[in-house]
Amino acid sequence: MKYNIGDRIITKKKHVCGSDEWEVTRTGAEIKIKCVKCNREIMIFKTELDKKIKAPKN
Ligand SMILES: [Zn+2]
Repeated sequence: MKYNIGDRIITKKKHVCGSDEWEVTRTGAEIKIKCVKCNREIMIFKTELDKKIKAPKN
């Protein structure tokens, strides 16, 4: 899976705020994603993120 800044992704597990939708804000070996609902940002390794996402949202 390739990630680009601004992409919306859906994770299998919901965030604590109840949303499962995230926006990519930084790419690289570690990806930074921001929760669309509560704006919390987290850093995650690309290989880990690949396992956690459900589907890209277009
Ligand atoms: Zn959230």
